[in-house]
Amino acid sequence: MKVVFSNRAYTALLSETYEKITTETGGVFLGYYEDETWYIVEAIDPGPTSIFEVAYFEYDQKYVTHLINKIARMYKKNLSLIGLWHRHPGSFDIFSNTDDGTNYSYAQLAPQGAISALVNIDPQFRLTVYHVPKNLKYKKIPYEVGDQHFPKGVLDLLTSEELHNKINRNENADYIRSLQVRIAPKMKLSEMMSSICSKLEEFDVTEHMEEIKAETVNDEFLDRISGEVFEDLEYLTEQADIAVKVKMTARYLCLFDDSGETEIRVFFSHIGSIDKFIFIYENKSYEYSSGMFARIIEEGISSEVEEDTSFWGNLKKIFKIKRR
Ligand SMILES: [Zn+2]
Repeated sequence: MKVVFSNRAYTALLSETYEKITTETGGVFLGYYEDETWYIVEAIDPGPTSIFEVAYFEYDQKYVTHLINKIARMYKKNLSLIGLWHRHPGSFDIFSNTDDGTNYSYAQLAPQGAISALVNIDPQFRLTVYHVPKNLKYKKIPYEVGDQHFPKGVLDLLTSEELHNKINRNENADYIRSLQVRIAPKMKLSEMMSSICSKLEEFDVTEHMEEIKAETVNDEFLDRISGEVFEDLEYLTEQADIAVKVKMTARYLCLFDDSGETEIRVFFSHIGSIDKFIFIYENKSYEYSSGMFARIIEEGISSEVEEDTSFWGNLKKIFKIKRR
């Protein structure tokens, strides 16, 4: 296993280290993993309200989440959050207990785990890169720097022609596809879906099943569903801190949470003959309309009746903290 930095990512890391030369600092890596190699395309800075002290460092999560999504959308290739780095004082090039916690949450983002790198200046600049598997059995791995080590086309940005086309055709589906980079999620999609579904009546789609199955995925169909789901997806990722990935499968727009061991899926479709959107979760179907999940969550949070130990209680805490 090895790591490859793009010229830009490596320069960003060095530049951030130099800028905060007297304190800790760090950042996150945007890239992808393939054939035992971690390709780091971009290194994102930790944000204006991150905390820099000599031996302590904390990210501005909102800023970082915002920026990794923003930058990932400029690339042709689908990029994800694949790891992080930070500086340590002196020659301390192993992880602290706090680091273990942070590394752990990153390692849960993908089956192959994540990478975590440490910078020391003792007194020369030194970078140590670790692979962080889900069980936290760290292993030092080698790295190299240079765009020439990347497969052809991986570092390509979207062309202005491609963006013109997207803008002019208002491609919801494409945009939704790119809403996938998440950082250290606090809630699971499964918890949220179970709570939402407990507040809904099932909608029997038996008589429409043939129609749903006959629906073939084309751009127009996907755009329609994406447009309907868009508001809730933004809400889930930006407000509720839920890890969500989106895939277009045959016939469905599929939301899933692959941060855990089992994949949780929510399928969205449209029944043309009665002009209704539906979603299917754990083999039960429900009627769906734009912004519905957000409304149910907001109602749950503002209701005073709920137990504090429940999902809603936890969500309330998260929202109170975020909205202060
Ligand atoms: Zn540390």
